[in-house]
Amino acid sequence: MVGAPGAGKGTQATLLAERLGLPHVASGDLFRENIKHETPLGRRAREYVDSGALVPDELTIELIADRLGRPDANEGAILDGFPRTRPQAEALDKMLARMGGRVAAALYIDVDREELVHRLSGRWICSVSPTHVYHEVARPPKVAGVCDIDGAALMQRDDDKPETIRARLHKQLPPMFEVVDYYSERGVLSTIDGDRPVAEVTDQLLHAVTSPAK
Ligand code: ADP
Ligand code: ADP
Repeated sequence: MVGAPGAGKGTQATLLAERLGLPHVASGDLFRENIKHETPLGRRAREYVDSGALVPDELTIELIADRLGRPDANEGAILDGFPRTRPQAEALDKMLARMGGRVAAALYIDVDREELVHRLSGRWICSVSPTHVYHEVARPPKVAGVCDIDGAALMQRDDDKPETIRARLHKQLPPMFEVVDYYSERGVLSTIDGDRPVAEVTDQLLHAVTSPAK
């Protein structure tokens, strides 16, 4: 799944993973987990994540190669937030070719820039399970500040502060467009109108994965 910060990748990847019975592999969640546990990889990634920059390709590719090597990804995975640069997309193709696989579909969730700022600044996530994602206006929890699913406290991500939101969009949109072009050239890109309500976006995505562009 390709999309700008705040496009709805995480929200949709969770729903698709459930519907398709595939693991949801979110590079940002994996980085945050490593940072929280102060692993060597987390210590190297932290300054980039905190400033809204992309983590260097080498480190990111290592993170994903390790994750895709685990048994639950044998039949495939929903990749959320990776690849985010052209070298990452090339590395993913090589990695999958070695495993006898390929990118079956690249799903680009296209969202207006103003809407991205609104989504990121109102995002709240569960402090226990980061795939439980809310929005204070668009997808509020039943009880303010509490996760509907497990009752844990909701929190805002450190990088969803206004200045880091601006930095992320400024630094991350140009390489994302290169990834969009890369998959378009390979004939596997589907562009999804992400400015629609969540359920409608899910329907478009399911349609695209069951009849991917060839
Ligand atoms: P969002 O959901 O807002 O798009 P993510 O949770 O996917 O953000 O990523 C959070 C941060 O983790 C990014 O701003 C970046 O610093 C780092 N990151 C995640 N995925 C990648 C990637 N594929 N390449 C480089 N950095 C990444
Ligand atoms: P990403 O992983 O691409 O950064 P998220 O899935 O975390 O995006 O969504 C960003 C914010 O936008 C969250 O607060 C989420 O609840 C909200 N959101 C997601 N999809 C939609 C949608 N279709 N309409 C309105 N808000 C949405």
